[in-house]
Amino acid sequence: MSFNIIFFGPPAAGKGTQAKIIEQAHNLRQLSTGDMLRAQVAEGTELGLQAKAIMDSGKLVSDEIVIGMIADSMERNKKAKGFIFDGFPRTTAQAQALDAMLAERGEKIDMVLELQVDDSALLSRIEKRAKEEGRSDDTVDAMKVRLEQYRSYSAEVLPYYKTKEIVYGVDGMRSIDEVTIQIEAVLEQDEAA
Ligand code: ADP
Repeated sequence: MSFNIIFFGPPAAGKGTQAKIIEQAHNLRQLSTGDMLRAQVAEGTELGLQAKAIMDSGKLVSDEIVIGMIADSMERNKKAKGFIFDGFPRTTAQAQALDAMLAERGEKIDMVLELQVDDSALLSRIEKRAKEEGRSDDTVDAMKVRLEQYRSYSAEVLPYYKTKEIVYGVDGMRSIDEVTIQIEAVLEQDEAA
């Protein structure tokens, strides 16, 4: 039985951290469009060159690019028990494309976990991450744009899943361990996880 989850939440909410923990514990495969794009930038591919300036400004890369990357990764992971989508979908077009790709495998999105974190906490996490990781989009200006983008795309994408009644809120202000415990409690509601 397959199981597919979306980790949804603002920049620096802890999606990647939690996705890596849950991926291990449940034998799922994390697919992060942000990580995939950064890998393309690091490799200096044509796609990476195109995406870098957009990412550094905090805006969204085109649907075509991210949908293509997700399609390729799903194709390469045919045997996965399920996926954790991290940072995707961010538009209705991406959500619809994802539904279609999963439907081809006879699967669907089973749960959307919304990590909720206050803006002030996000800003201090970004400041800390900027010092530790040096990501080129972890600047004050890009962060402002990323938060604005989040407000607008979450208002578009969350209702798409809320009508399906599969959105679960998680308090992302707590410690890493406490957030994991909350996520595990939500996952227990679905025995396929
Ligand atoms: P964060 O959520 O912390 O801002 P991500 O690593 O998820 O960081 O994304 C970094 C950047 O990559 C985004 O600001 C955006 O430019 C681009 N990106 C990632 N995923 C998508 C997506 N699904 N659609 C469009 N752009 C994306």
